Amino acid sequence: MSSEGERLREVPPAERVLLLPHCLRPSATCPGRPSKEGFQCPEDCQEPCAIRRLKEEALSLGYKAVCIAPGGALALRFLKAQEPKGVVAIACHKELAEGVEAVEELEGPVPEVATLPLSEDGCVDTKVDLDAALELLRRGVEVR
Ligand code: SF4
Repeated sequence: MSSEGERLREVPPAERVLLLPHCLRPSATCPGRPSKEGFQCPEDCQEPCAIRRLKEEALSLGYKAVCIAPGGALALRFLKAQEPKGVVAIACHKELAEGVEAVEELEGPVPEVATLPLSEDGCVDTKVDLDAALELLRRGVEVR
């Protein structure tokens, strides 16, 4: 496991998942809704939103699934269900530290986890370095 994500290169996109924090959404205008499976975005959402951009990119690269999680417990349930070999996780420093520790304690093979901390955290209307996030998602994937 490495937070730098270099070993993510060895994991094909179809074996990877993306974890995003729901605090990245624009809270004043976001039409999405929480659910037991994570935050759900209407397909016709047109908000300028890092979540949509990163989710679309991951799925177009062939990632097996994306979860927009309100916290570590749901993210962990998602990982147990998906059993990915690689995880790209974006969250605040605290959630990432707790999440990586929890993943190491999962039964079975431990996935490769590449993390990117939020550039501005605070639980609401947080921010991520979009270029860095896109680079991490694409790592080891041939982009046409
Ligand atoms: S794409 Fe962003 S703004 Fe739209 S529903 Fe999803 S989280 Fe909310």
